[in-house]
Amino acid sequence: MKQSTGFRDARYAQAIVNEISSLVDGRNIRIVHVCGTHEDTISQHGVRSLLPDSIKLVAGPGCPVCVCAAKDVDMAIELSRKGHIITTFGDMVRVPATNSTLAKERSNGADVRVVYGASDAVSIARDNPDREVVFVGVGFETTAPTIALELLGKPPSNFSILTSLKVIPPAMEILVNIEGFGVDGFITPGHVSTIIGSSAFQPFAEKHRVPCVAAGFEPLDVLESIRMILKQIQEGRADSENEYTRVVKPEGNLAAQRVLAQAFRIDDAPWRGLGIIKKSGYYIKKELAEHDARLRFEIPETESVDILPGCRCHEVILGMTDPLECSLFGTRCTPEDPYGPCMVGHEGTCRIRHEYTMD
Ligand code: SF4
Repeated sequence: MKQSTGFRDARYAQAIVNEISSLVDGRNIRIVHVCGTHEDTISQHGVRSLLPDSIKLVAGPGCPVCVCAAKDVDMAIELSRKGHIITTFGDMVRVPATNSTLAKERSNGADVRVVYGASDAVSIARDNPDREVVFVGVGFETTAPTIALELLGKPPSNFSILTSLKVIPPAMEILVNIEGFGVDGFITPGHVSTIIGSSAFQPFAEKHRVPCVAAGFEPLDVLESIRMILKQIQEGRADSENEYTRVVKPEGNLAAQRVLAQAFRIDDAPWRGLGIIKKSGYYIKKELAEHDARLRFEIPETESVDILPGCRCHEVILGMTDPLECSLFGTRCTPEDPYGPCMVGHEGTCRIRHEYTMD
């Protein structure tokens, strides 16, 4: 049955595609998005197949568990081996670290619990006052405010957070500075823009002369954002525009921004596959240090390995390699038994490609 909701209307989609074709005018255009949910929409609805061949739509670093450095997972594993209760999101449990995963540690007897959010972890801490409860907080600007709220809400003294929270705009800076990367426009992430606002990307757009458009998550949103990028290119503009006006405000969510500023400071952070990116991570402020697992526990420094032999996640995360080009795709590396982080969760590019290209 054909879907004909307002956001999936086939005739409207065709009209936008026609306009895209006339705007691109045969030029090679490379558009990058940095959001796993966008990649899911694009793959699920075959958006790439609707576009002229000269438009390349590329997935960048938009999956929070994929870019979580192995070092952070190794730390969580170390803490689980000390007998503490480790709580985190479901995807994180299966993310490969240097030699293990939290799931493997759990099967060896560690107390690793999947939670829906930091508030569940706080409840577990209240129910287990004699145990240390660590929440492994992973995500972008979208997830960070909910974690900040728990920190600010006077959690019990046996509760702490191992932060691996990332800030998206600095990662985009890295992409544009990679020699030969080449990008003509960015589809900026709708969820992140809800918090920081579409105008947060304006300095980036101006500095690098790259059009940016915040997009929603329906196929028509993505098509319309591509049309808007091409229109900017045609007009010689490079601005941060907002296609997702039904949710995103130019200024973002000011209350969420205040909460973030109260709980976190921003500093350099390691991204899997991308190395250390300046000013790209949220860390707990010193006023809340008693809940900072990095300070609360002595965790020995280990030699962590971000990318296991043969895995090409570092190239996939950068949008330089398609998952199908990895020789381990669908063989050694599957959603049931992920070898690399990009095959773990529903926002991972390899996982998404597997879901929509394999039977
Ligand atoms: S298919 Fe697996 S091993 Fe290959 S790049 Fe993707 S996650 Fe890494």
